[in-house]
Amino acid sequence: MISAGKELKKAVKERYAIGHFNIFNLETFQAVVNASNRTKMPVFMGTSNKTLDYAGVSNILGLYNSLPKTSKVILHLDHGSYENAKKCIRLGYPSVMFDGSSMPLNKNIKLTKKLVSMGNKKGVFVEGEVGILSADGLTNPSDAKVFVEKTGVDSLAVSIGNQHGYYKYMPVLDFQRLMDIRKVVNVPIVLHGASGLIESDIKTAIMYGVAKINIDTELRWNFTNSVSSYLSEHAPSKLNKDSFDARNYLGIARSSVEGKVFDFIRLFQR
Ligand SMILES: [Zn+2]
Repeated sequence: MISAGKELKKAVKERYAIGHFNIFNLETFQAVVNASNRTKMPVFMGTSNKTLDYAGVSNILGLYNSLPKTSKVILHLDHGSYENAKKCIRLGYPSVMFDGSSMPLNKNIKLTKKLVSMGNKKGVFVEGEVGILSADGLTNPSDAKVFVEKTGVDSLAVSIGNQHGYYKYMPVLDFQRLMDIRKVVNVPIVLHGASGLIESDIKTAIMYGVAKINIDTELRWNFTNSVSSYLSEHAPSKLNKDSFDARNYLGIARSSVEGKVFDFIRLFQR
C-alpha cells in the first residue's frame, strides 16, 4: 500500500493535487477503485461519520483490505469525530481526518495532538482543520501556524471561501489568504468543498500549494441523478423482472460516478 504522506509531499513538489472522493456504498467504493486503477493515480477514499454508520466500518475495512497490494487507494476518515478517529486509527485505517474546527482553537489543538500521537505509533496519516467552511469562518494564517506547530499534524484543511455542498453563487476564493497560510505552514494544504468550483480556481489553488482536493457533493448528485433518470424512463413493472433488477440502475450510477472521479483526477494533474 502507498503512503499518504509520501504521495502528498510528491504532489506539493510537483504541483498537482490528489483527489479525495467520498463513498457511501459498494458501488461508489468500486467507482473510486476503478478510476484510480484506470488513471494509475493515488486517491483518498473518503468515509464520513455518516458513512461509517450507514455501511459499517468493518464492512468498509473488509472491502478495503481485499484490494491488491498494488492498489493506490488510501482509505480515509473524512471529518471524523474524535471517537471515530480513535476507532479508525485502532482498526487500521491508513489515514484519518479529525474535524475540531468548530471547537475553540485550544481544544482543537489538544484533541488533534492526541490523535497525531496515536497515529504516529501506527503510521497513520492525520489531517486537521482550522477555520470553519463558511464565509465568516476563514482560516486565520497565524492560527494555522500555531495549530500545525503544536499538533504536529500531517496536513491541514483550510477555509478560504470554499464550502460544502453546491454553491448558490460562485465563491471568490481568497488566494492571498492561501498564500499567507502556505508561507507559515509546512504541511500539505487540503481544499474541501470543491464540487462546483470553476476549473481555473482549482488550478490556481493547486498552484498555490493545495495538494489534496475533496469531492463529495458532485458524486452524490451524479449517483442519485443517474438512478432517478433511469427509473423515470423505466418504471418498474411486476410483469417484467428485468425492470426491477437493482443492478441495472445501480450499475449505471456506478459508471457515472466512476466517470466523474476519473475526470477530477485528470483535472487535478498538471
Ligand atoms: Zn469536507
